[in-house]
Amino acid sequence: MVKNEVKTTCSYCGVGCGIIVKKDINNKVFVEGDKEHPVNKGMLCSKGMNLHYVVNDISDRILYPEMRWSRSHPRERVSWDDALGRASRVFKSIIKKYGPDSVGFYVSGQSLTEEYYIANKLTKGFLGTNNIDTNSRLCMSSAVVGYKKTFGEDSVPISYEDIELADCFLITGANPAWCHPILFRRIEKRKEENPNVKIIVIDPRKTDSANFADLHLQLLPGTDVVLYNAIGRRLFERGLIDEKFIKNHTEGYAAYKDLIFSTSIKQASKLCGVPEKDIKKAADIIGLSKGFISMWAMGLNQSVVGTDKNVSLLNLSLITGQIGKPGSGPFSLTGQPNAMGGREVGGMANLLAVHKDLMNEEHRREVAQFWGVDKISDKPGYTATEMFDALESGKLKAVWIACTNPLVSLPNTHQIERAMKKAKFVVVQDISYKSDTVDYADLVLPAAGWLEKEGTMTNSERRISYLPKEIDAPGEARPDVEIFCDFAQRMGFRGFNYNNASEIYDEYASMTKGTNIDVSFLNYDRLKSEGTFQWPVPEHRHQGTSRLFEDKKFYTPNGKAQFNLPSTIKNTSVQPSEDFPLILTTGRIRDQWHTMTKTGKVSRLKTHYPTPVLEINPVDAYLCKLKDGSIAEIKSENGVVRVRAKITETIKKGVVFLPMHWGKQLQSDLNRTNNLTNTHIDPTSKEPDFKFTCVSVTKYKKP
Ligand code: SF4
Repeated sequence: MVKNEVKTTCSYCGVGCGIIVKKDINNKVFVEGDKEHPVNKGMLCSKGMNLHYVVNDISDRILYPEMRWSRSHPRERVSWDDALGRASRVFKSIIKKYGPDSVGFYVSGQSLTEEYYIANKLTKGFLGTNNIDTNSRLCMSSAVVGYKKTFGEDSVPISYEDIELADCFLITGANPAWCHPILFRRIEKRKEENPNVKIIVIDPRKTDSANFADLHLQLLPGTDVVLYNAIGRRLFERGLIDEKFIKNHTEGYAAYKDLIFSTSIKQASKLCGVPEKDIKKAADIIGLSKGFISMWAMGLNQSVVGTDKNVSLLNLSLITGQIGKPGSGPFSLTGQPNAMGGREVGGMANLLAVHKDLMNEEHRREVAQFWGVDKISDKPGYTATEMFDALESGKLKAVWIACTNPLVSLPNTHQIERAMKKAKFVVVQDISYKSDTVDYADLVLPAAGWLEKEGTMTNSERRISYLPKEIDAPGEARPDVEIFCDFAQRMGFRGFNYNNASEIYDEYASMTKGTNIDVSFLNYDRLKSEGTFQWPVPEHRHQGTSRLFEDKKFYTPNGKAQFNLPSTIKNTSVQPSEDFPLILTTGRIRDQWHTMTKTGKVSRLKTHYPTPVLEINPVDAYLCKLKDGSIAEIKSENGVVRVRAKITETIKKGVVFLPMHWGKQLQSDLNRTNNLTNTHIDPTSKEPDFKFTCVSVTKYKKP
């Protein structure tokens, strides 16, 4: 029997599907897709439809604060008073001795907007350091830089409703069939209803998304910039560019044209490993379409040339004038449910709230004034990988990790282990002991999870949803905002005594007034009664903005979109060598989410891939003397992984693939893909290069 029901949003990916949560008379939760929700119209993917198992099973949950007085002692249960009392004393003493830049916070794209906002206010406004970064650095910081360089601000121009209006999709560096399944379902439906719709997929692997495509360009990893430029050249040669749009609404076209003509399509074909005819065909499909949408995710962003890949792809929307009109535009897909919300509140080391820039003196002054503090430091904070470098080198003494599992998700796991051991004080605030990171904590703080706290999130299409609290958190777990605000007050900071999350949202919303992300006319009452809204919502009765730049006025000083040239057309990743001849690219599988702390609890989600496997081409497998199913030992400069080999034609020769999810779940650190990955980052976006690590593969022989 159903007791009551409530509407909320899925806590996994950035698609942001609407969910109806029901409870039976025993207070057990079950979920179904919300048929009235504009995103998913009732559909849920395998992860979303099994969310109730995660909520109902609390066997892994952290129930009480735990602390250890020294590294030689085990952690023991303590009261919240003792836990946060110690945290504030340690932070005060470290800051007094080493200065504010000796502490840092590492947060998450799974945090709610209110949590993100408070953590940033606390760190940048009151602790006096910009050392706060997020695991979203690992998935979309290159896209943020690309948007800022091209449009003047971090702005996703389009909406899911444009999918039903487009007739050409270029999906590149993404496998939405597995990683954004409901979004991909909308693309499939569009194609089913209109067979003239064309789908192009660019990916070194023949993924399920590629299988559905009309054209798959199976490029060599890291050659994306060359490929996009070759498509640009062909568009020009065929006269399939929008000269009027270029002339009236862009800058930098002449230099771009010179660049794309510096490499012939034949040369590009050779560099990318893609047939010349397919490059031409892709360009012709794009150029002849009425509505062209490009979609991308980690394949572009997670690269040492992630910014270059982003601006080069965005140039294709500019050259064709395919932006600011129905069914067209570039669309970066966010991996996490609130990566976008984090960007709104300045949830990265180089950002300030409401899309203000940390390096802009006027912006720093405005934010400081709003928070009632003297100043915001002008010193850039440590980004995700820099933060752990600084811990290892001893520059950073204390780190507070909330809602993320860097021991599995950051590159070069062994370095992260060394960094955590070197830290003087590690706080881990999370919901589950399944996080490998908890093992390294001096202080563990139990946090409330999905349905156990209220707040808001923003999905990939700028859609803000309200998530209600529906059940009590187990044990003594508390909402993250409560934990941060309690800590802030113990540090002696004013401005953190909110009565509820709604007041935090109102404070953030008032900060957005008059900006390009204005939500000052939005509040919890409207979100609860009217549903979701896409920002900006700049007037009282405004229903939200589904598409940006319809007036062709961009956010640059002169209103024109900018063609940007990549710093190089080469991939600057370390190239294969005799010792490490294969390129490892990492990614996600259909039924698992991030480091499996939630989806790993659900038996039925393990049937698709019970264990991690190495995808390897038959030719490489032959050379490595591997048979299908035999144990492969994969080595890089940084470490070793052992998993079973899956020999498949779907991956290009010279490239191997590992999923990134497994950590402690299999009780073996030899399954952790990031044992192998390198620590190189994009120089501008600071996003790590998860898609290009040189490795060797051999058949494992038991000693
Ligand atoms: Fe949740 Fe994403 Fe699946 Fe939708 S597509 S149900 S948001 S995991």
